[in-house]
Amino acid sequence: MRDFRYTRASDIDSAVRAGRSSNAKFVAGGTNLIDLMKGAVEQPEELIDVSRLPLDRIEPLVDGGLRIGAAVKNSDAAAHPLVRDRYPLLSQALLAGASAQLRNMASMGGNLLQRTRCHYFYDTAFKACNKRSPGSGCAALEGERRMHAILGASERCIAVHPSDMAVALAALDAVVRVRGAASERTLPAAEFHRLPGDTPERDTNLEHGELITAIELPASRFGANAHYLKIRDRASYAFALVSVAAALDMQDGRVRQARIALGGVAHKPWRARRSEEMLAGKSLDASALRAAAEAALLDAKPYPDNAFKVELAKRAIVRAVLVAGGAA
Ligand code: SF4
Repeated sequence: MRDFRYTRASDIDSAVRAGRSSNAKFVAGGTNLIDLMKGAVEQPEELIDVSRLPLDRIEPLVDGGLRIGAAVKNSDAAAHPLVRDRYPLLSQALLAGASAQLRNMASMGGNLLQRTRCHYFYDTAFKACNKRSPGSGCAALEGERRMHAILGASERCIAVHPSDMAVALAALDAVVRVRGAASERTLPAAEFHRLPGDTPERDTNLEHGELITAIELPASRFGANAHYLKIRDRASYAFALVSVAAALDMQDGRVRQARIALGGVAHKPWRARRSEEMLAGKSLDASALRAAAEAALLDAKPYPDNAFKVELAKRAIVRAVLVAGGAA
């Protein structure tokens, strides 16, 4: 591991000032970043420890929403009564991620910033990785692509985003609150991560030096009917082949509104807006569900070794919506 300077930030303003330095990175739980540094994938000159900042509270908002501080641990957020009661989808997604030990260390802000688990990205013996080394190529394009993207990929990168939590946040219309040098702003969770395009080295729409301070969830009508379905190679401690965050606002056996997002299929959580529109006003019958699932995958462009994900995603959508609606 390359030598680096370590600074423990004492307040948010000084953290943001320090974060402007060109090769500085924020660290909280460090569950992904430290691994990347050990493997020389990330080589920051300075780490700014933001884990002791006063960003560790979960508090209700006056409009019925909920603010979760960026330093809250994943396990604490998953177990919090307000999260479990109002946003069970988020609690389920958090508990589907990583292992108990990692969830005890990982922060909410850090979860959003974890990087793809594309094995070519992690293994520096492969020189071609546009995400690690812009302009070097993409080893996965001619390599093993079983875990890779079927939606929204580019010729520069076909990696997928690994977070389960971010999939639930995209479905729930959460926003991410960030502080920069001059101001504060919010980004919709569904637009926080980027598609790879020509710049796969950029995972998110954060500007350099911006610090995530909180995740805010709007008042929700989806607490009673939600389900996070994660399909993976092992029952635990494995990244999603496909996951589905489904939340329904139901009335008299019909869907008033649906929220569906997919994980494991794209460079960002993939909101299935066509499917949501098709389900509005419908009962949960098999033909309506299958049609909505087909619509979500219309633009899929798989490779031979990950073509199975297309049908898997369709079936996962049907299953997740049925469970969310109490019909399975
Ligand atoms: Fe790198 Fe993306 Fe290609 Fe993986 S898919 S090797 S992360 S450029």
